[in-house]
Amino acid sequence: MKKSGRPRRRLRRLVQKNRLIGRWVQHAFLIVVLFLLVLQALFMGMLRFYYYQSVENALESRAQLYNRTMEMAATSDTLSWDVLSRSLIVYFTDKDKMELQVLSADGQILLSSTGFVPAEEDSLPDFSQALTAEDGCGIWHGHNAAGEMVMALTMLEKTPAGGTVGALRYVVSLALVNRQILLLSGLLFVFILLIVFFFALSGLYFINSIVTPVLDISRTARRIAMGEYDTRLKKRYDDEIGELCDTVNFMAGEIATAERMKNEFISSISHELRTPLTAIKGWSETLQMAADDRELVEQGLTVIGGEAQRLTGIVEELLDFSRMESGHMVLRQRPLDIAALLEEAVFLFRDRAFRSGITLEYRPPYGRRNNLPLVMGDPDRIKQVFINLLDNAVKYSRSGDRIRVEAAAMPTAVQVVISDTGIGIAPEELPRIRQKFYQTDAGASGAGLGLALAQEILQLHGGSLEIDSEYGVGTAVTVTLPLEPAE
Ligand code: ADP
Repeated sequence: MKKSGRPRRRLRRLVQKNRLIGRWVQHAFLIVVLFLLVLQALFMGMLRFYYYQSVENALESRAQLYNRTMEMAATSDTLSWDVLSRSLIVYFTDKDKMELQVLSADGQILLSSTGFVPAEEDSLPDFSQALTAEDGCGIWHGHNAAGEMVMALTMLEKTPAGGTVGALRYVVSLALVNRQILLLSGLLFVFILLIVFFFALSGLYFINSIVTPVLDISRTARRIAMGEYDTRLKKRYDDEIGELCDTVNFMAGEIATAERMKNEFISSISHELRTPLTAIKGWSETLQMAADDRELVEQGLTVIGGEAQRLTGIVEELLDFSRMESGHMVLRQRPLDIAALLEEAVFLFRDRAFRSGITLEYRPPYGRRNNLPLVMGDPDRIKQVFINLLDNAVKYSRSGDRIRVEAAAMPTAVQVVISDTGIGIAPEELPRIRQKFYQTDAGASGAGLGLALAQEILQLHGGSLEIDSEYGVGTAVTVTLPLEPAE
């Protein structure tokens, strides 16, 4: 009792733990088993039909043979039914295969080839059937008085005038046939059991080959979620599971990069905020001590004002970023003169570029033919794009480098190219630099938001940002703004 209960309990626990097996059992295994059982039942039915039919055919051909003999003998008129049937019983050659009974016209068994006439016979359904049948033939199978399964065929013997003289009844035991049917069905059942066994085995093996790596993936994903970003899955299969492993590994890599970028962002933004704050704090202390030195006061206030402006710029950029993330960036569009906006932006960087020894060239597309068409857009945002791009160009150029700003009219857009001969961008960095917080040099000033913001603003305008760069040679950023306003 204890022994048989244990594997069943283990199987139940396995199925409960392994819900995929439960689903497979419900949706595949049971259906296949059911199908096989129906097949088995059909096979048994067909087998029984086939065997019984052949027994029936054999009885019928035998009956036709003997009854015709009887008919031919009866026509000679010299022999009576009694004598004929008696001699038929004596010379009946199939005694070992079947029993021949001679019935009276009212269905009484008069003689039997076994020599044994049952004292009390059940009703003979085949005889009753023969009485009503056109061809005078009736067939039945069932249990006889001795409880044996038999098939019986009765054929009436008629006079030329149509009256019934008596009948011949052929009875054959179905025990052998039934045993044959049972044997074949048993064989099929064993075969089905084998199929079910191998099906279950292969199914469990297959499911296990899915469940084990899936559990592995789920464990690893949980570890990644808990912060173990270096955890990686081993790719064992080159199939969908293998693809899932690759995706999870890729996800872990991306999360690790995002985490690193976030940390770098916090450190760079703190640095960005601290530098102007340090200057403001330093100058305010200086001013407290040297309040009488008018020149110094003026210089100090200018620095404090400039640094406060820088702080405002940083905070504005962060606010813009947060608006961009939440999808709340609103555009106030109106017809824009891109050339004028560019001029304003370039003007803001002229001093800084000059101080760093960088040549900043801007040739406005003036003159009748080159005049730029007006573009619908938000002037503050578009100017911000130019400022971000010029800021990068100056930031990533060295003394002696050259920055060129150009604008041109295209058939359906206005194009602005800001190119520099600065440090350039390595090809492996190029696809990532537009991502938020991404900086090639963690120590560089800025928060890694400039390009992400520029791209978002341009996309909102229906425009685009393209970056071409060669490491050590320079970078060209192309801004395209459509003439038709974005919806
Ligand atoms: P950041 O605040 O660091 O400038 P950005 O989003 O504007 O952030 O730029 C992301 C990165 O792209 C920068 O860290 C820099 O490495 C690279 N980059 C952008 N513009 C240029 C350029 N003109 N020349 C070289 N590198 C550039």
